Amino acid sequence: MIEKVEAIVLKTLNHGDTSKIITLYSREVGRLKLIAKGVRSPKSKVMGLFQPTRHLQVIYYKKPNSGLQMFKSGELVNGFFGLEEDFDRLTLAQVVVELLDRSIEDEQTHPQLFQLLADTLSRLSDGNISSARAFWFFHLQLLKELGYHPHVRHCSVCQAPLETGGSLGVASPHLECVKCHQPSQDSIFVSGSILEITQYLLQSSGDDLGQISLNPSERRSLWDFLWRYTFYHIESTRGMKSLKVLRQLYG
Ligand SMILES: [Zn+2]
Repeated sequence: MIEKVEAIVLKTLNHGDTSKIITLYSREVGRLKLIAKGVRSPKSKVMGLFQPTRHLQVIYYKKPNSGLQMFKSGELVNGFFGLEEDFDRLTLAQVVVELLDRSIEDEQTHPQLFQLLADTLSRLSDGNISSARAFWFFHLQLLKELGYHPHVRHCSVCQAPLETGGSLGVASPHLECVKCHQPSQDSIFVSGSILEITQYLLQSSGDDLGQISLNPSERRSLWDFLWRYTFYHIESTRGMKSLKVLRQLYG
């Protein structure tokens, strides 16, 4: 059976002498793994399609009950070439595709998530949009779409409002108020203003990200909060390779 999907390349792996295995995230069927035979030979015309972050239209042969399908042909929908002009944006885009790849279950169709991914890559490749804000928006919307919506308004234990901030610890996966939280070496405190911005990003449509303004220490705090929360709830995101590159860049 021949199928046609719209998809974004998440990762690729060389296979044999001339082939590649490509993992994509598609609008129609969610994660999709294809083997593309002969595409690494010098005569191949499609090799350039298979860079992570490329948005493609793909035709493949579908074999039922198989985890690996056969690539037939592909066309570029959007190369997001703006990413290649800016190393920071390219690195963040790699974090975006790896975070999505490690967070999703196999064979679950989720068109909203596909759209979020495509919109995020488009924002990151646009030099006029803040890449940090585009990333925070993606990160929070991804958590929300996957059912890990962080509750930032109230303490998870006593339900008191978290207007002045809240804490997360290794044994406390949800935010707690000062009275309920048992401080430990690993506790992190998130201020009321960061929680306010988190709530704003969770409710935003993504078109109004220019409203957000954070100083460097607030940026760091939001970053630490998001990753601490994500590592706790989605274990497979621990040890992300692209994140190591980003840490080397920013210390
Ligand atoms: Zn409390």
